[in-house]
Amino acid sequence: MPDIILHPSPNWNERPAGAVIDTVVLHYTGMATGQVALERLCDKVAQVSAHYLIEEDGRVFALVPEEKRAWHAGVSRWRGVDNLNHTSIGIELVNPGHDFGYRAFPEAQVTSLLSLLEGINTRHHINRHGYVGHSDIAPDRKQDPGDLFPWQRLARHGFGLWPQVGGADVTVIAKRGQKNVNVVKFNKQLGIIGYSIDDIQSFDATTECAVRAFQAHWRPETVSGVIDIGTASILEDIAGQLGQ
Ligand SMILES: [Zn+2]
Repeated sequence: MPDIILHPSPNWNERPAGAVIDTVVLHYTGMATGQVALERLCDKVAQVSAHYLIEEDGRVFALVPEEKRAWHAGVSRWRGVDNLNHTSIGIELVNPGHDFGYRAFPEAQVTSLLSLLEGINTRHHINRHGYVGHSDIAPDRKQDPGDLFPWQRLARHGFGLWPQVGGADVTVIAKRGQKNVNVVKFNKQLGIIGYSIDDIQSFDATTECAVRAFQAHWRPETVSGVIDIGTASILEDIAGQLGQ
């Protein structure tokens, strides 16, 4: 376990009575430097925080105690539950993000993350399915931690699911504007995984955002917002692992 540097943020409140921590939400900071992000997450005026921030060199900063409610998820919904701040632990990984030069997460940072997740899992017994990206729980407005995040590696350590099938075929089979039986099936599968779908009958804007988030998480080679043959097989695989 890397040393944890205490760096308290004033931005937290109590979790609701009876709230059980069952989810870990992964973010990138999306700011020019880690220092700027750390200052913002501890600035009372900004009204945002996370439980942890991990620098690219692997240093781990503890901002909010796990038992308290940090303010990282914002308007969010996953598996039919709103406001993920109530029940989750939020981890910010320093990365400039899509606005400032998105880049790979360095080895030291990923190693620290895996150690931190080991500890969190020991303390809270997070279900294998309980590891999500900010983009999964708020797909219409967030794209972190993005398609370079090492979800497959986390899954190998027991943090999250990973498909057993490949998904290289990018032949398009469903896209925005369509309404047919395939669309209904894909919407149902996205819903089983946890995405919030407005209208099960149609491939609308919410479906498109969910597909994009799904691809960034489970089929990062091609994040297109359309369902191709590869995405469809992976979607079926992941939904199946959840006991469809
Ligand atoms: Zn985020």
